[in-house]
Amino acid sequence: MLKSKASPVSLEQRNTTRIRVLEHIRAKGSVSRIDIASALQTSPATVTAATADLISAGLVKETESQAQSKSGKRGRPRVLLQLDGQMHLVAGLKVARQVISVILVDFEGNEVASHKYALDQARMSPQKFVSAIREALEETCSQIDRSVAHLAGVSIGVAGLVDANRNFVHWSSSITERNIDFSHLLSNKLPCPAFVDNDANLVAKAEQLFGLGKGLENFLVVTIEHGVGLGIVLDGKLYRGERGCGAEFGHTKVQLDGALCQCGQRGCLEAYVGDYALLREMTVTGHTNDMESVSEIHDRANSGDDRASSVLARAGQMFGLGISNLINLFDPECIIVSGAQMSFEHLCSSEVMTRIRNGVVNVDAPLPQIKVHHWGDMMWAKGAAAYGIEQVSILKVKELTSNAP
Ligand SMILES: [Zn+2]
Repeated sequence: MLKSKASPVSLEQRNTTRIRVLEHIRAKGSVSRIDIASALQTSPATVTAATADLISAGLVKETESQAQSKSGKRGRPRVLLQLDGQMHLVAGLKVARQVISVILVDFEGNEVASHKYALDQARMSPQKFVSAIREALEETCSQIDRSVAHLAGVSIGVAGLVDANRNFVHWSSSITERNIDFSHLLSNKLPCPAFVDNDANLVAKAEQLFGLGKGLENFLVVTIEHGVGLGIVLDGKLYRGERGCGAEFGHTKVQLDGALCQCGQRGCLEAYVGDYALLREMTVTGHTNDMESVSEIHDRANSGDDRASSVLARAGQMFGLGISNLINLFDPECIIVSGAQMSFEHLCSSEVMTRIRNGVVNVDAPLPQIKVHHWGDMMWAKGAAAYGIEQVSILKVKELTSNAP
């Protein structure tokens, strides 16, 4: 009988194993080779080969820990593996309307510096957008006597429809033009790889790694700021859609031929719930033309202004409708909601909870947990940095293959 010849391990398989090993080391902090093999259900020889490659790429280093025997005596030191945090500096950015928040992290995700770069305009041409990113990075790097030349990667979160696989922005409320391929614009302006993603996706990544989504397999993150965003984590992975156009919760329709949305369509959820929509509603009714924040609408509602109360109540009802639709679609373990508006009553009132309950298909089971997580723009930037670390890891592993003899 002929013995079947073992098929050679393809480069792709080797890279997949290296990434899995690297991610396991990242999750554990420090771990032995034998424990990695056991956790990933692979052979010790495979893990030894993968870790040797990762060490040579400067991604991982060996450390020793003194093992304790059962009798309490010192045993032989165990060799553990951990990330080589000092080797790579990664930047995460969140582009908001008035400010770019920047965080610099080492390869383990530890913050090294942070900075807020003021923007003089909320919407920019693609060229101006990239220049602002470069300046924001230079100012941040100078805090620690470094330059952008020291960065291993830059990750940028923007609102809008983004195909992260090719740094292509279909549309963003921060950019004056549609359908922009940022690959060349960024590589002309930056000396390192750069990655663009939808900002709500990056918050979902941050929640998964550092926040309320830690340990959860299926959860959603809803962000309410100028617009309304959604990050979807299914089976532990971020879901982006085929063209990078998925998870556009803010542009799901809640009213036929309804209010005009900043995307150009009508009846979108964010045209009723986003900060801009509330402020616009107060302005177009001739109620006021000097209102700048949602908290001012609240102040008016609290002092008996019926128009302000009705604008907030409608936002709450539309929000409840949207959340019930999400539960019907995804049945998540948890929905994490964030944004300045969550500090106020109108999106978490008992009327909103009733609207959610009434909109969810009747089953004999409790609703998924809805948690409010207050964080500022730095949380978004931290999520961007986490995505940057992940992408730099993949590039370094691919370089290993292309440099192989
Ligand atoms: Zn829209």
